[in-house]
Amino acid sequence: MGKNNLVQALISRALASCLCTALTIAVSGGAVAQDRLNISEVKDGLHVITGPGGNIGVRLTPEGVILIDNKFPQDFEEIRSLVADVTDLPVRYVINTHHHGDHSGSNPGFLQIAEVIAHRNARENMLRGNQEGLPRTIYTEQTSVILGGIEVQVFHLGRGHTNGDSVVYFPDLKTVHGGDLLHGIAPFIDYANGGSSRGWVGTMNNILALDFNTAIPGHGEIMDRRDVLNFRNQMEAVRARMAGLIRGGLSIGDASDQIIDSDLSWTQADNGLFMQRSIPGFYNEIFTEIQ
Ligand SMILES: [Zn+2]
Repeated sequence: MGKNNLVQALISRALASCLCTALTIAVSGGAVAQDRLNISEVKDGLHVITGPGGNIGVRLTPEGVILIDNKFPQDFEEIRSLVADVTDLPVRYVINTHHHGDHSGSNPGFLQIAEVIAHRNARENMLRGNQEGLPRTIYTEQTSVILGGIEVQVFHLGRGHTNGDSVVYFPDLKTVHGGDLLHGIAPFIDYANGGSSRGWVGTMNNILALDFNTAIPGHGEIMDRRDVLNFRNQMEAVRARMAGLIRGGLSIGDASDQIIDSDLSWTQADNGLFMQRSIPGFYNEIFTEIQ
């Protein structure tokens, strides 16, 4: 595949799942940089791999590594190389926070060396989307991976970004990996795959019921508990604003312009997924709710 074709493939793959701002910037800059991914420590025993695609959690145990998400298909070898920078032990488990290809894209590679786990709905979404690398292990409400004396808990806490989101909790580190239920810029509500802003608020409250002080979002910088609380509050605020506008007679065609509010950063992010891809589904959801 030539470079331009590769770039096109990267763009269409990103658009097909979660548009990644960083990727778009890298591509529009005229070249796809090598070694685009970085690994850094979040807490003792937990690292994060950043760069284009969803943030990867790297949980180290004395018996191997548990990965949370695995970016795009082309990232498989670079992910393994970065993990090898922090441990000699192999990746034993991969947890997919949801089905989007910028979080589960390297499943085909990891299925050769590890067990891949996802929520039942996430697997069904992958199946319907003809994605490669279907998880062999699924759950519906809660499961755990226990490796090397360390328990990593996996919860489905309700609808939100999709209908198959997993929240991964590291109780000994008081840290969660929220997948795209948490986003550093603005969230995407994937209505075609069961997403719901109403469900999202409830799911956020369930996350906040966990005892944590640090959160890895699907995209963006590491968060603390206040950041997560602010995210929940903005979800409630954009819902209230849309409801008020609809009660005032807002048409769906004017929703993108009228929702913009200087107090709501998601509506200010022109290139964010909330404005680019979540409206008009968001309008339709709120419209139906308040009838
Ligand atoms: Zn996503």
